[in-house]
Amino acid sequence: MEIFDLKKIEEDAQKLLSSYENVDLSLKDRLKIPIQPMPSQDPKERINNMDEVALGYTESQVKIESLRCIDCKNAPCIKGCPVGIDIPGFIKKAAEGKFAESVAIIRESSMLPAICGRVCPQESQCQLTCTVGKSLKSVDKAVNIGRIERYVADWESANKSRQRPEVKEESGFKVGVVGSGPASITAAADLRREGHEVVMFEALHKAGGVLVYGIPEFRLPKSIVQEELDALYDMGVKIEMNYLVGRTGKVNDLLNNEGFDALFIGSGAGLPRFLNIEGENLVGVFSANEYLTRSNLMRAYDKMRAGTPLYTSKHVAVFGGGNVAMDAARTAKRLGAQSVTIVYRRTANELPARKEEIEHAHEEGIKFMYLYSPTKIVGDERGRVKQVELLKMELGEPDDSGRRSPVVIPNSEQLFDFDTVIVAIGNNSNPLIERTTKNLKVNKWGNIIVDDETGATSIEGVYAGGDIVLGSATVILAMGQGRKAAKAMNQYLASKRK
Ligand code: FAD
Ligand code: SF4
Repeated sequence: MEIFDLKKIEEDAQKLLSSYENVDLSLKDRLKIPIQPMPSQDPKERINNMDEVALGYTESQVKIESLRCIDCKNAPCIKGCPVGIDIPGFIKKAAEGKFAESVAIIRESSMLPAICGRVCPQESQCQLTCTVGKSLKSVDKAVNIGRIERYVADWESANKSRQRPEVKEESGFKVGVVGSGPASITAAADLRREGHEVVMFEALHKAGGVLVYGIPEFRLPKSIVQEELDALYDMGVKIEMNYLVGRTGKVNDLLNNEGFDALFIGSGAGLPRFLNIEGENLVGVFSANEYLTRSNLMRAYDKMRAGTPLYTSKHVAVFGGGNVAMDAARTAKRLGAQSVTIVYRRTANELPARKEEIEHAHEEGIKFMYLYSPTKIVGDERGRVKQVELLKMELGEPDDSGRRSPVVIPNSEQLFDFDTVIVAIGNNSNPLIERTTKNLKVNKWGNIIVDDETGATSIEGVYAGGDIVLGSATVILAMGQGRKAAKAMNQYLASKRK
């Protein structure tokens, strides 16, 4: 099916949907319902713009896709969801066209459905365990839970039917939330609901964490994150931008001098890792974080208006194979690079990025060099990247992650011409808070150690969650941790009142 023409897609879907109306669909019938493809921007066009690639289901498509769910008694999809959303419940409502009720069911467990519907790795969570996918022998044939979630969340936004969460009477307690990513957004909302005064501290000049500075507009429009932040403002949460906890004010100052009764730390994992190879300090080498932040926050993609235009590149190499690498590669393409190549140590089978992002990258002409590992970046006489030396690898035995580990093929070094290198091999947590907070316990990777059940740290009244605890993880896990910690913080504050 042509997936670029929304009008045609809806017309076809309407016809198909009418054939199911007033029919008592058996399990077998449901398994035969065609999977609804995601309408998307044409790759030839989208590589020239920053607009969202996936356009979202049409109304008839979402109903058809929802009819594919067989409402399993044991609902394995719920077990696959890190926050336990009642998936068959919300899908049933979507099939009936009761979108407000559908999204209300999601909101019982998830604060950010429009975001999670777009960026959650469903194929390795709820959709992996879906009975329909199992019966049809492919996870690709599972019910498209995330796409249905996205539709109902977008419907709620378009119809302005979102309910303002109830905020209890002022409790008299003041709570600080460090960072403004998904862990902090969730914690702030749940804390404010209890009537606490909530102040969020964000180091950057824009709130939203990785959702804003990392994930590009073409995958997650900034306006969607802004809606979540507006909802926080509307509830009375205050956000202090350009406030770097550890420098502008320390954790202990906030607790002892600024009158905060409790703190949630959701400062993420924003410190890029490098390979520590020769030439990594040449002009034209970027961490994916820097590259994406410049593009996302400083409008580097908008050459006419950007305060600091991004480096002009012709041939870009991106080291890494995760979501961050795909985002950086696809951004480089949109910024005008003639060629963009992902250089990955393993094979296509081990790529950790979401399947959809890999497919989109292929469609957009991103090249993939598998089983290569960078050993050196070579500069020209002006200190700019000119070439990259890559070593050929082969796959050996599985490592701790269960993936087959890359093994060097000796003397296989080769030079390739590139003028830009983007390093996307992962992030560590920023050590500032740990270094400036006495008695805050962290593990050997610098992640804050917390109680699994409550998110409580080694300091009384200080809780933490999200990437700063888990290392680089996912939006939904960060959100789940924010919620868990907020619950425990609310209990902690209630116990102080007695
Ligand atoms: P973050 O989102 O990192 O937010 C932390 C915030 O704290 C930041 O705004 C930071 O500026 C602020 N901060 C840090 N230190 C301080 C301080 N000392 N004082 C004040 N503020 C501070 N996950 C998915 O599920 N799906 C995806 O498709 C996906 N794609 C990704 C693409 C990219 C490019 C990146 C980088 C990550 C991606 N992730 C994805 C991972 C996901 O975004 C993170 O797991 C999630 O955002 C973590 O949330 P968090 O709230 O813990 O922290
Ligand atoms: Fe529906 Fe799949 Fe969940 Fe079963 S496992 S209830 S088919 S979404």
